Amino acid sequence: MAYDSENVFAKILRGELPCDKVYETDHALAFKDIQPQAPVHILVIPKGPYVSMDDFSENASDAEISEFFRVVGQVARDAGVVETGYRMLANHGDDGRQEVPHFHVHVFGGCDLGGMVRRVSA
Ligand code: AMP
Repeated sequence: MAYDSENVFAKILRGELPCDKVYETDHALAFKDIQPQAPVHILVIPKGPYVSMDDFSENASDAEISEFFRVVGQVARDAGVVETGYRMLANHGDDGRQEVPHFHVHVFGGCDLGGMVRRVSA
Protein backbone atom coordinates (compact mmCIF):
# COMPACT_ATOMS: atom_id res chain seq x y z
CA MET A 1 0.00 0.00 0.00
CA ALA A 2 1.45 3.36 -1.04
CA TYR A 3 1.67 6.13 1.55
CA ASP A 4 -1.12 8.72 1.24
CA SER A 5 0.44 12.07 2.09
CA GLU A 6 -3.04 13.59 2.55
CA ASN A 7 -3.87 11.46 5.60
CA VAL A 8 -4.72 13.36 8.77
CA PHE A 9 -1.48 12.54 10.61
CA ALA A 10 0.62 13.67 7.65
CA LYS A 11 -1.26 16.98 7.84
CA ILE A 12 -0.54 17.23 11.57
CA LEU A 13 3.16 16.58 10.91
CA ARG A 14 3.22 19.33 8.25
CA GLY A 15 1.48 21.73 10.65
CA GLU A 16 -1.62 21.94 8.47
CA LEU A 17 -3.82 20.61 11.29
CA PRO A 18 -3.41 21.24 15.02
CA CYS A 19 -2.76 18.58 17.62
CA ASP A 20 -2.59 18.44 21.40
CA LYS A 21 1.11 17.57 21.54
CA VAL A 22 2.50 15.80 24.58
CA TYR A 23 6.02 14.84 23.40
CA GLU A 24 8.24 15.22 20.37
CA THR A 25 11.65 14.00 19.20
CA ASP A 26 13.49 14.08 15.88
CA HIS A 27 11.73 10.93 14.69
CA ALA A 28 8.46 10.77 16.62
CA LEU A 29 5.49 12.83 17.76
CA ALA A 30 2.99 12.05 20.51
CA PHE A 31 -0.37 13.79 20.89
CA LYS A 32 -3.76 13.22 22.50
CA ASP A 33 -6.36 11.27 20.56
CA ILE A 34 -9.17 13.56 19.43
CA GLN A 35 -11.80 11.00 20.53
CA PRO A 36 -10.32 9.50 23.70
CA GLN A 37 -11.42 5.98 24.59
CA ALA A 38 -9.88 6.11 28.08
CA PRO A 39 -8.79 8.82 30.56
CA VAL A 40 -5.33 8.57 29.00
CA HIS A 41 -5.39 8.07 25.23
CA ILE A 42 -2.26 9.22 23.45
CA LEU A 43 -1.12 8.47 19.91
CA VAL A 44 2.54 8.04 19.07
CA ILE A 45 3.51 8.38 15.42
CA PRO A 46 6.81 8.25 13.56
CA LYS A 47 7.60 11.36 11.55
CA GLY A 48 8.55 9.26 8.53
CA PRO A 49 5.92 8.24 5.94
CA TYR A 50 5.08 4.72 7.11
CA VAL A 51 1.62 3.34 6.40
CA SER A 52 1.46 0.74 9.15
CA MET A 53 3.36 -1.46 11.57
CA ASP A 54 4.18 -3.72 8.64
CA ASP A 55 5.73 -0.87 6.65
CA PHE A 56 7.49 0.62 9.71
CA SER A 57 9.01 -2.64 10.93
CA GLU A 58 10.27 -3.50 7.45
CA ASN A 59 11.45 -0.13 6.18
CA ALA A 60 12.24 2.25 9.06
CA SER A 61 15.82 2.68 10.23
CA ASP A 62 17.05 1.23 13.52
CA ALA A 63 17.27 4.80 14.86
CA GLU A 64 13.64 5.52 13.97
CA ILE A 65 12.41 2.24 15.47
CA SER A 66 14.36 2.51 18.71
CA GLU A 67 13.44 6.15 19.24
CA PHE A 68 9.79 5.45 18.49
CA PHE A 69 9.50 2.80 21.19
CA ARG A 70 11.46 4.89 23.67
CA VAL A 71 8.90 7.65 23.08
CA VAL A 72 6.04 5.21 23.74
CA GLY A 73 7.63 4.32 27.08
CA GLN A 74 8.35 7.96 27.94
CA VAL A 75 4.80 9.02 27.14
CA ALA A 76 3.42 6.34 29.45
CA ARG A 77 5.78 7.42 32.24
CA ASP A 78 4.88 11.09 31.75
CA ALA A 79 1.16 10.22 31.80
CA GLY A 80 1.65 8.50 35.17
CA VAL A 81 0.23 5.15 34.12
CA VAL A 82 3.23 2.89 34.62
CA GLU A 83 2.25 1.92 38.17
CA THR A 84 -1.45 1.51 37.47
CA GLY A 85 -0.94 -0.11 34.06
CA TYR A 86 -1.63 0.73 30.46
CA ARG A 87 -2.14 -0.79 27.04
CA MET A 88 -0.40 -0.04 23.77
CA LEU A 89 -2.14 -1.02 20.60
CA ALA A 90 -1.51 -0.69 16.86
CA ASN A 91 -4.21 -1.46 14.33
CA HIS A 92 -3.11 -2.75 10.95
CA GLY A 93 -5.21 -3.01 7.82
CA ASP A 94 -8.86 -3.88 7.34
CA ASP A 95 -9.21 -6.66 9.92
CA GLY A 96 -7.41 -4.49 12.46
CA ARG A 97 -9.75 -1.62 11.48
CA GLN A 98 -6.92 0.82 10.96
CA GLU A 99 -8.55 4.15 10.11
CA VAL A 100 -5.57 6.44 9.59
CA PRO A 101 -2.97 5.08 7.14
CA HIS A 102 0.04 6.46 8.99
CA PHE A 103 1.57 4.06 11.52
CA HIS A 104 0.61 4.89 15.08
CA VAL A 105 0.51 3.29 18.50
CA HIS A 106 -2.32 4.04 20.89
CA VAL A 107 -1.43 4.33 24.58
CA PHE A 108 -4.48 3.77 26.78
CA GLY A 109 -4.59 4.09 30.56
CA GLY A 110 -6.06 5.73 33.60
CA CYS A 111 -8.72 3.08 34.24
CA ASP A 112 -9.30 -0.68 34.08
CA LEU A 113 -9.16 -1.29 30.34
CA GLY A 114 -11.15 -4.53 30.35
CA GLY A 115 -10.42 -7.62 28.31
CA MET A 116 -7.79 -7.52 25.59
CA VAL A 117 -10.06 -8.07 22.58
CA ARG A 118 -13.72 -8.84 22.06
CA ARG A 119 -14.04 -12.43 21.00
CA VAL A 120 -15.48 -12.74 17.49
CA SER A 121 -16.68 -15.81 15.65
CA ALA A 122 -14.40 -17.13 12.93
P1 AMP B 1 -6.90 3.73 14.09
O1 AMP B 1 -8.26 3.13 14.01
O2 AMP B 1 -5.93 2.86 14.87
O3 AMP B 1 -6.34 4.14 12.74
O4 AMP B 1 -7.04 5.02 14.98
C1 AMP B 1 -7.04 6.32 14.49
C2 AMP B 1 -7.21 7.25 15.67
O5 AMP B 1 -6.90 8.57 15.25
C3 AMP B 1 -8.62 7.29 16.24
O6 AMP B 1 -8.58 6.92 17.63
C4 AMP B 1 -9.05 8.76 16.06
O7 AMP B 1 -9.83 9.25 17.12
C5 AMP B 1 -7.71 9.46 15.98
N1 AMP B 1 -7.70 10.73 15.26
C6 AMP B 1 -8.23 10.98 14.04
N2 AMP B 1 -8.01 12.27 13.70
C7 AMP B 1 -7.32 12.84 14.74
C8 AMP B 1 -6.80 14.14 14.99
N3 AMP B 1 -6.95 15.15 14.11
N4 AMP B 1 -6.13 14.35 16.15
C9 AMP B 1 -5.99 13.35 17.04
N5 AMP B 1 -6.46 12.09 16.86
C10 AMP B 1 -7.12 11.84 15.72
